Amino acid sequence: MSVTTTVPGEPVLPDVKMHAVRPTEPVFATITKNERCTVSKKTASYIRQVEFDVSGTPLVGVCNPGQAIGVLAEGNDATGKPHKVRLYSLSSPKDGIDGQGKVYSVTVKRSIDEHWDTKKLFMGVCSNYLCDRAVGDKIRVSGPNGKRFLLPVDPNKNDYMFFATGTGIAPFRGMLLDLFKAKCTSKITLVMGAPPASDLLYHDFFLDMQTKFPNFTYLTAISREKQADGHDQLYVQDRLRTNRDQLLAQLSNDRNCIYICGLAGMELGIFQQLGFILQGSTLEQYLQCDPQALRDIRHWKREMLHKEIRPTKRVLMEVYA
Ligand SMILES: Cc1cc2nc3c(=O)[nH]c(=O)nc-3n(C[C@H](O)[C@H](O)[C@H](O)COP(=O)(O)OP(=O)(O)OC[C@H]3O[C@@H](n4cnc5c(N)ncnc54)[C@H](O)[C@@H]3O)c2cc1C
Repeated sequence: MSVTTTVPGEPVLPDVKMHAVRPTEPVFATITKNERCTVSKKTASYIRQVEFDVSGTPLVGVCNPGQAIGVLAEGNDATGKPHKVRLYSLSSPKDGIDGQGKVYSVTVKRSIDEHWDTKKLFMGVCSNYLCDRAVGDKIRVSGPNGKRFLLPVDPNKNDYMFFATGTGIAPFRGMLLDLFKAKCTSKITLVMGAPPASDLLYHDFFLDMQTKFPNFTYLTAISREKQADGHDQLYVQDRLRTNRDQLLAQLSNDRNCIYICGLAGMELGIFQQLGFILQGSTLEQYLQCDPQALRDIRHWKREMLHKEIRPTKRVLMEVYA
């Protein structure tokens, strides 16, 4: 028999519209802006902020940060079938960039790989299609997708610890814009990870927000370089260790929620670090673990997630390959 309980402090998420437009019947959106959003022009990653207008379509007013939009590239795949839909997280606030829910944005990384056998360059279909679009071009879109990775109905009732790697920053940019606009007084921490510091996204914006909002803490974790604050290479979860004293009060408060977005696999390291620092105190707020698993946190594996290690409703995740 399953028993449903309401646990104080758990986020109450809004009901949002999904699939207003199906990928089988996409609508046209018009590109309004397409610009690089990395901090440095010297980076080897090509990541762009692409903005588009959905006026006159069922997508007006229904696209929230934390949801994704579907994009259908022109042309056919190797089997002659039209390219399948690809999902991109919205990086715009709830009311869109225009404040009227008509213009939204996504944060797109060009997928570029060298083929192992042939040594030929492989350019991902949809990311490069999207990054190549010019202002005025029409793209076919669907969505929105997802209903579990959202800000709560009343944002002031919770605190937020956001962990992002790469384009995983997209939903947090939108959510933060909404929280700042609402003058949310909650404690908000963003930990952004990137391989070199030149890959940090929207870095100047977050630095600026940190000076304007005393309740907002912005931390970076650079995995292939020394940190500006002198620490060696760090992954996002390492900030829980290096900045433990700064973050512990927020982590220990039952108002706090943890949001994780980015590369699939990143959640495990965060969970292990939570295990190390919160075991015996407030770990259960985030993770319900079998006693056996708790004895050997160092050897946790991804296969154990949702089995021996079960994230609670205070942990919201959107990870992708
Ligand atoms: C919920 C969700 C949200 C997402 N949000 C974002 C986001 O905000 N930003 C973002 O950039 N992405 C996001 N993604 C990922 C995005 O949907 C795409 O998967 C990504 O852009 C790659 O698509 P593509 O069409 O460019 O590449 P594809 O053409 O699909 O290829 C993908 C990869 O497959 C490999 N590959 C495929 N075929 C070959 C081949 N013939 N030879 C060699 N290698 C090959 C390559 O490694 C290539 O890079 C999200 C995914 C999900 C599920």
